[in-house]
Amino acid sequence: MIPYARQHINEADIDAVIEVLNADYLTQGPKVPEFEQALAAYCRVPHAVACNSATSALHLACLALGLGPGDILWTSPITFVASANCGRYCGAEVDFVDIDPRSYNLDVAALEEKLRLAERRGRLPKVVVAVHFAGQSCDMRAIAGLARRYGFRVIEDASHALGGTYRGEPVGCCRYADIAVFSFHPVKMITSGEGGMAVSRDPELLRRMRRLRGHGITRDAAEMSEPPPGDWYYQQLELGYNYRMSDIHAALGLSQLRRLPQFVQMRTRLARRYREQLSDLPLILPWQAEWQSSAWHLYVVQVSDEAGIDRKTLFAALRQRGIGVQVHYIPVHTQPYYQRLGFRPGQFPRAEAYYRRALTLPLYPGINPELQDRVIEQLRELLA
Ligand SMILES: *Cc1c(COP(=O)(O)O)cnc(C)c1O
Repeated sequence: MIPYARQHINEADIDAVIEVLNADYLTQGPKVPEFEQALAAYCRVPHAVACNSATSALHLACLALGLGPGDILWTSPITFVASANCGRYCGAEVDFVDIDPRSYNLDVAALEEKLRLAERRGRLPKVVVAVHFAGQSCDMRAIAGLARRYGFRVIEDASHALGGTYRGEPVGCCRYADIAVFSFHPVKMITSGEGGMAVSRDPELLRRMRRLRGHGITRDAAEMSEPPPGDWYYQQLELGYNYRMSDIHAALGLSQLRRLPQFVQMRTRLARRYREQLSDLPLILPWQAEWQSSAWHLYVVQVSDEAGIDRKTLFAALRQRGIGVQVHYIPVHTQPYYQRLGFRPGQFPRAEAYYRRALTLPLYPGINPELQDRVIEQLRELLA
């Protein structure tokens, strides 16, 4: 089976991990801050907070922004459940904004309309999580404009978009957001095994996320309620978590980060090949806004209604032929957990219509032209 995504590990990656295994620290050593600094430099922000997953980083981001019971978080229904769950962890209410039918990102016009209504009802969100679906940035300038007008904070869920750009700057530079979050799960742009990172320009948000990552503990005398009696001393100031990344994971992530430009280039080339060779088929190919360059985490097509075969049938046939297609994503509000919270199918019709036709084709740095040609051939046969 050709998978839809796969990590790309080379000798340098392996050596980086072995080096840590032979060193003094498996965790809380030098590799985590090194990885944090390298990613912050890549994103052109002052600092970063590495975590054991992007889900943890999203949770910390929500906490740092003060999200809690009685507050509301909005995100897109076409995302991984973690983009919404982070609000629920904090006891906040979650709601969704329907997608733009071209980019499949949260629709800015729908967001504006929903904000207008919410203001009238006194139900404005405290946080909006903008998900850069498939690696294509949301229109962050427009979202930041609405954030100023309606007083909400912005988290970029950039789990798909490391290596992408928005208006000439790297995704994650936080010009238009309070915090951006990346994932290093093996299917994502780079991997640390498991792992995630939050980046920000705001030193206070970074400080809060770092403290909550480590049990709410401080070793900084300036933050303590009394002068420390000795070097052993620390204080727990609030209820935090153990969301730390290990040095083993950080070493892999750091080595992979050096390879990121090459990964993006390979993915971009593969996406171009798909576009060239699939454009005559009854498929809706990914649309790209001109003010961004995608990281191409996913290559998602929609099966047109005139294809003569529906997505479900095409999916099964491709899987049977060894093509590991996937579907991203089941609209979050249709999940049983969110249904129990009161959401109903039909609430976000564009997301649901997209979901019925969506199909993710294999795309990852290690797929060679011959394997990609097999995917293309099978698609041509089935859609002929
Ligand atoms: C993968 C992913 C996450 C969660 O990442 P983990 O590192 O697995 O916790 C969150 N949001 C989106 C959009 C993702 O694709």
